[in-house]
Amino acid sequence: MTSSPIFERLCLIGIGLIGSSIALRARRDGLVGSIAISTRSTETLDRARALDLGDEYHLDVAEAVAGADCVIICTPVGTYSAVAEAISPHLKPGAIVSDVGSVKKSVIDQLLPHLPANVHLVPGHPIAGTEQSGPDAGFPTLFDDRWCLLTPLATADPQAVEQMTLFWKGLGSMIEVMDAEHHDRVLAVTSHIPHLIAYNIVGTASDLEEVAQSEVIKFSASGFRDFTRIAASDPVMWRDVFLHNRGAVLEMLGRFSEDLAALQKAVRWGDGDLLFEHFTKTRNIRRGIIEAGQETDLPNFGRDQPEE
Ligand code: NAP
Repeated sequence: MTSSPIFERLCLIGIGLIGSSIALRARRDGLVGSIAISTRSTETLDRARALDLGDEYHLDVAEAVAGADCVIICTPVGTYSAVAEAISPHLKPGAIVSDVGSVKKSVIDQLLPHLPANVHLVPGHPIAGTEQSGPDAGFPTLFDDRWCLLTPLATADPQAVEQMTLFWKGLGSMIEVMDAEHHDRVLAVTSHIPHLIAYNIVGTASDLEEVAQSEVIKFSASGFRDFTRIAASDPVMWRDVFLHNRGAVLEMLGRFSEDLAALQKAVRWGDGDLLFEHFTKTRNIRRGIIEAGQETDLPNFGRDQPEE
């Protein structure tokens, strides 16, 4: 709970999983005076209204940003340039423009050319989410104890960065400030490539001729189903992530392919020592994630049914 709102008027552009989670928490804890919501479709806007996510609802994004102290873009990253072009003439002088996009260098490249000099750009990325989309998917505790990475330019206004830090802390997050290019390299390996691998393995399994579709589904608890959860993530969002973080993804994918080839060789040559050493190292990494509070230590992710 905060005593006075961090922003008098917040504008959320896009009200899917992330936008609605911000709205729910910001309202619950009085982080903002009012929320103006904008989305492109009447259907989603009506749903946001029915869920009582904000105070004002606009299809016209220019109307939504008028008078806002803080504007957070919560749409797929491929939309940013068009969004920035549409909102820029209507932004309040001194306003903060932020976002939640999963890549950061491209976001800055898309936004900066359009924004007037009298607004402050503070890009952000909450490392929190689910495979669900849309305004019904949000919940107010989504960001609790999860990192939010802020990637302001070195020339950014420190007060604007401080306000966004306060806001995300209010939403429940822990904050780290980093350079946008560094963000993109880190996230390529921790998020983007794992998603690409999941999309790939699920595709491969469904294309195999000697394994029936029914068997893939029936015996999925042997590991496959955990990939299917990730591979069920929103196709538009993830298409845009790969189109806008190409360099870092390709670089990390090169490393990944080399390491996979080494494991492939160990399997072919029956090099049990190498496999054992490798699997022991990776098991320790999972322990570290659990100790950092970023994952449950319950067996089988806390599911009722034991695996296999
Ligand atoms: P979502 O649930 O699919 O919601 C997307 C929102 O963006 C909706 O309001 C949708 O509007 C709007 N939108 C979609 N395409 C658009 C377009 N071409 N032009 C204008 N608006 C468009 O998405 P989300 O999961 O909240 O993700 C939003 C952002 O958060 C993305 O940039 C993503 O990279 C980032 N992010 C996501 C996660 C995650 O796990 N999902 C985690 C961290 C960051 P309509 O419904 O009206 O069409």
